[in-house]
Amino acid sequence: MAKQTCAICGAEINLIQQQKLADGSYICRKNCKSVGMKQFDYVHADLPSVLAHHDQVNKGTKIFNQYFVPRMKTKQVERFGDVYVAPDIGLMALAKTDYKFFIFGKYYPKAVVYRIADLKDYDEEMIETKTSDGKIQKDNVMRFFFANTAGLYTFTTKVGNTKSDEACVKYFNKLFGIQKTIGNMGNTWKNQINAIGAMGKAIGEAVKSGGEATENVVSAAGDAADMLNVAIYGDRSALIAAADKTLAEFEAQG
Ligand SMILES: [Zn+2]
Repeated sequence: MAKQTCAICGAEINLIQQQKLADGSYICRKNCKSVGMKQFDYVHADLPSVLAHHDQVNKGTKIFNQYFVPRMKTKQVERFGDVYVAPDIGLMALAKTDYKFFIFGKYYPKAVVYRIADLKDYDEEMIETKTSDGKIQKDNVMRFFFANTAGLYTFTTKVGNTKSDEACVKYFNKLFGIQKTIGNMGNTWKNQINAIGAMGKAIGEAVKSGGEATENVVSAAGDAADMLNVAIYGDRSALIAAADKTLAEFEAQG
């Protein structure tokens, strides 16, 4: 088969070194594919999303080393396998750490950093993989899904070596103020009833004004939508503010 040219670095690549992308372009495994996280699905990604992921890793690695590593030493970071959560800065990360470096007081992990507020789904999942001797191996993993995120926006990872999947789900429910357990249904209900009430008010306003979207209606409908979001996803305003502050500070360094 013919040699290809890497769409990122321009290197000429032989068959073994080729990674074909979903849009038919090729990148080299050695220098370019190795930039990404192992969770990133190159086969089903096009070049723009690969580039977005590589930006995500370059930036994320810097943020992780600057903001997460010091916090790990002061125990301000909650860890679930390769997932690290720092609520005081509103950020969380998927990181590949190297303990060999940590022993010597240094940490150079590769990381992708997310706003905690963008985490829309976190749940246990069972995946089946075929082992080399043809047996089916079942593994429990956690799936994370992020909104407003280019590049790697969803991934699964094993957290079982640190804490249970259940503890991980509980942690995020608590962080977002979402009560998914039966014992705590009261709070969720109160939020939902408030949201439904506000929605009703918005509709009532719309009827009064002859169905035209006046400023009041739009604003009331916006409030109702916000409340519904709070009911489903919890109140994330403090996490958003913390992330905004951290990322603005990071960007200002240039
Ligand atoms: Zn390349």
